[in-house]
Amino acid sequence: MIIAIDGSTASGKGTLAKRIAAAYGLPHLDTGLLYRAVGLAMLESGEDPENQAAAAAVAARLEFRDLDRRELRSAQAGAAASVVAAHPEVRRALIDRQRSFARQPGGAVLDGRDIGTVIAPDADIKFWIDASVEVRANRRRRELLARGEEVSSARMIEDLIARDERDRSRADAPARAAPDAVRLDTSDLDPEQVFQAARLAVETKLFLMHAGTPDPRGAS
Ligand code: C5P
Repeated sequence: MIIAIDGSTASGKGTLAKRIAAAYGLPHLDTGLLYRAVGLAMLESGEDPENQAAAAAVAARLEFRDLDRRELRSAQAGAAASVVAAHPEVRRALIDRQRSFARQPGGAVLDGRDIGTVIAPDADIKFWIDASVEVRANRRRRELLARGEEVSSARMIEDLIARDERDRSRADAPARAAPDAVRLDTSDLDPEQVFQAARLAVETKLFLMHAGTPDPRGAS
């Protein structure tokens, strides 16, 4: 079973993906970390993340195993990630390995921006997770504070709006919900409620798959 979890920045999709993967015993790939790793490597080597050729070379060499660095979660890495993610050559360098991860025997959970539309359009179930920009800014601020990074609320909101806009407006694989995605707004939900809502959707899909009934939403 392939589960695609896409959504906006700090919408709660990462937390949900981890919980769903644990509940169904599936391997999980946070694809945002790939772009963060490329963005951070560019900053660390003094390269401008806007440099497509250099970023694509970093992406081609990227080891999917090395995504545990704490620095990948920083605001700086997130901003650089969104710049390198707009380069078609960077996306191309990462696509095959993401697809192989999705198609491994037994299935997988992947979270990102383009999983349901580009990486695994054949996913068994797709989610689009969103929340208001104020709620997302608060969540991201708390996460960064816990890591010792302080960002004002106004600055965080500005950053999120800029990042959402860049992710949505890029020509290659813009961040958007697949037409057959289950949409969840997590603004007023805690992580447990989000997980329960998503689990209900997965269970329904599994039931329909086993019963051989076509999904009423038109998904495969
Ligand atoms: O989700 P996260 O904040 O870690 O993602 C960082 C950036 O990576 C996003 O702003 C987006 O530009 C990019 N990204 C992407 N496609 C994905 C996952 C992340 O373009 N599948």
